[in-house]
Amino acid sequence: MIQEYQLRILPEIAVNEQKLKEYLSKEKGLNLRDITATRILKRSIDARQRTIFVNLKVRAYINEMPQEDEYEHTIYNSVEGKPQVVVVGAGPGGLFAALRLIELGLRPIVIERGKDVRERKKDLAQISREHTVDPESNYSFGEGGAGAYSDGKLYTRSKKRGNVDKILNVFCQHGASTSILVDAHPHIGTDKLPRVIENMRNTIIECGGEVHFQTRMEALIIENDEVKGIKTNTGKTFLGPVILATGHSARDVYRWLAANNVTVEAKGIAVGVRLEHPAMLIDQIQYHNKNGRGKYLPAAEYSFVTQVEGRGVYSFCMCPGGFIVPAASGPEQVVVNGMSPSNRGSRWSNSGMVVEIQPEDLRSGELRIESGELAAQQNERLLAINPSLNHSQLSTLNSQLLPLHFQEELERQCWLQGGRRQTAPAQRMMDFTRKKLSYDLPESSYSPGIISSPLHFWLPPFISKRVSLGFQQFGRSSHGFLTNEAVMIGVETRTSSPVRIVRDKETLQHITVRGLFPCGEGAGYAGGIVSAGIDGERCAEAAANYLHH
Ligand code: FAD
Repeated sequence: MIQEYQLRILPEIAVNEQKLKEYLSKEKGLNLRDITATRILKRSIDARQRTIFVNLKVRAYINEMPQEDEYEHTIYNSVEGKPQVVVVGAGPGGLFAALRLIELGLRPIVIERGKDVRERKKDLAQISREHTVDPESNYSFGEGGAGAYSDGKLYTRSKKRGNVDKILNVFCQHGASTSILVDAHPHIGTDKLPRVIENMRNTIIECGGEVHFQTRMEALIIENDEVKGIKTNTGKTFLGPVILATGHSARDVYRWLAANNVTVEAKGIAVGVRLEHPAMLIDQIQYHNKNGRGKYLPAAEYSFVTQVEGRGVYSFCMCPGGFIVPAASGPEQVVVNGMSPSNRGSRWSNSGMVVEIQPEDLRSGELRIESGELAAQQNERLLAINPSLNHSQLSTLNSQLLPLHFQEELERQCWLQGGRRQTAPAQRMMDFTRKKLSYDLPESSYSPGIISSPLHFWLPPFISKRVSLGFQQFGRSSHGFLTNEAVMIGVETRTSSPVRIVRDKETLQHITVRGLFPCGEGAGYAGGIVSAGIDGERCAEAAANYLHH
């Protein structure tokens, strides 16, 4: 017999199967010896009150053993000799597109500018050690995409549960722990995700697909407003419809599209800093306990959101028990982001603290960045791609790319403030709200090092004012959060795509170029690993439809 129960229990019971069986026996009147196994179906932590509870949906097997698999298998058959689709980018968008193409009987050819996920790790170490950023292999570029070395958080605001479950099950099939199917806030962890990514690549190759590393798409081949394939920096061409899943850091791709009349449009972004507290402090605040999380609870999470002067200010991509990482993808940039190992066991907890910015904010007032010198520089880059662009076309393109230019400017400013290396400018949290330079800084997880800097002074007032007011509000609602034990590190700019590669809602094809499927975060249609994966699957289905008509 199988029985399912909804329980609200203490954490020490939730983590121990024997204790759980004893609890079920006592509270639900089951004979302890008859409970042969239990399986947790859903798990969340309720930390609203002083006593912390775990909500569990649990299945008890009474005098029988579980027969069903813990996750749903997808069948991948050989696609040898089948029509091919080019997938540019091996981030979650591209990888899930490729796997879905195989399910649909099509052969994916995956093109990735970076290295495979293991080789890539060496280049990440170089960033911290040598302060050198390889523009083709970094925290944004390489197999697994931007999220390969991350917290591997797998929650999304998507309401389409079925689509989310599919992505999580595919991750499990490729080696992720089945706890991701159970937890309310699942995450894989930076130590586990690379292996899962390798397994996904192996499935693609075993089924007859191709994966080409260190191969950068340099141009789309477009004939009569239809994409025929791509050209790469290795001199090769790959033919077929194209799923373009190049992520939000492929600025060369945005420029190429804009300069070649493939419509892109400016979109809103969110920009700010990474904020880092001692993990113990966040645990104490969130679990209302001076001893922190204790033995049975995970590192505590938080989430803040407010409105300041008409713009959202919020915490982003929180990494409990994690590290701040140098996420620049090119020279003369300092950009930060966060990651955590699967046990979320570091001494720090960090999150982005960002302010929403709309394209109109960049066209006038405090955030206006258009200087003559900058415009000339941006024009040069576009003219290098397409020398026939005239003055009025350049001005239109610059307007479309404005949020991207803004990100670039801020990242360069941060690099200058950090001393022209990967050292990042930083300020204690309370000092920032009091507009005071920090005379010293706390120890930080950011391995290239931090340097005291008046962020309140050089960040654009549009941002610093809102972050400061946001901090004060968060400190009022969460006692102890606004503290000089926390340090803010600049700058967090890569929260989403600055540009949308505009596509048709129904066919998912680019609005003016047939056979081109802008996909994932870089196209402006996803944010995060799971939503990029879902979008990858949708683009694969759209490409299959296109080939069948
Ligand atoms: P990307 O993952 O950006 O993949 C794009 C790929 O395209 C890259 O591999 C790139 O090398 C390749 N590429 C680019 N240009 C070319 C070209 N011209 N030719 C060939 N290949 C090209 N999200 C979460 O949901 N949870 C998290 O915990 C999380 N943590 C993160 C931590 C860090 C440090 C970072 C940087 C991001 C994190 N994110 C997280 C965000 C998440 O990684 C992205 O939302 C997601 O990866 C987007 O997927 P994508 O496939 O659309 O694009």
